[in-house]
Amino acid sequence: MVTERLYDDDPYLKRFSGAVVGFSDCGVVLDRTCFYGEAGGQAGDTGVLGGVHVVDTVIGVGGDVVHVLREEPGFGVGDVVEGVVDWGRRYRIMRLHTASHVMEYFLWGRFGFMERTGSYVDDRKDRADYVHEGRLDPGTLKLVESDTNEFLAGGHPVAVEVDREGLRHWSCGPVEMLCAGTHVRNTREVGAVKLRRRNPGRGVERVETSLAD
Ligand SMILES: [Zn+2]
Repeated sequence: MVTERLYDDDPYLKRFSGAVVGFSDCGVVLDRTCFYGEAGGQAGDTGVLGGVHVVDTVIGVGGDVVHVLREEPGFGVGDVVEGVVDWGRRYRIMRLHTASHVMEYFLWGRFGFMERTGSYVDDRKDRADYVHEGRLDPGTLKLVESDTNEFLAGGHPVAVEVDREGLRHWSCGPVEMLCAGTHVRNTREVGAVKLRRRNPGRGVERVETSLAD
């Protein structure tokens, strides 16, 4: 049995209870959870589970969600425990994750399509790497930032559809992609963002997105 991922139906769920089904080297597996396991370039959640701190959440062998615990738990297999996600952190991740998709749409709009070779979002920033020869022009990147902020302020609703193969299609106005991460329901929740260019080298340019507040 693979962990039921409660965040798929409700990314705003902060608290849940689930039964302990097993332990692995790195943590505990429950029958269900609202803790997001690191995948698809989105950081894993932290919080508290059965009174024990969860320092990270990962996807284990077979697709189970594994809660990495700071200390030895007082609970065992079969026990039902309550989990509470560190919501301040997760909500920032959801805002930044949503912003990153919108940013990319306008980035491609201004610079043309560039292949994305990697991305990672946590509660501080989203970073996305694109194949691009030379520097991304700072003036043009500033325009991408204003395009993005104007769109975010427009209050566009987000939709997620699951297809027959179980793939999750995320869309927001003209912006669409396959993504199984957690996002906000409306772009207004994101607020404004700042973009910053970095150069990790080897023909790759990095765009970092952070929240303006
Ligand atoms: Zn996404």
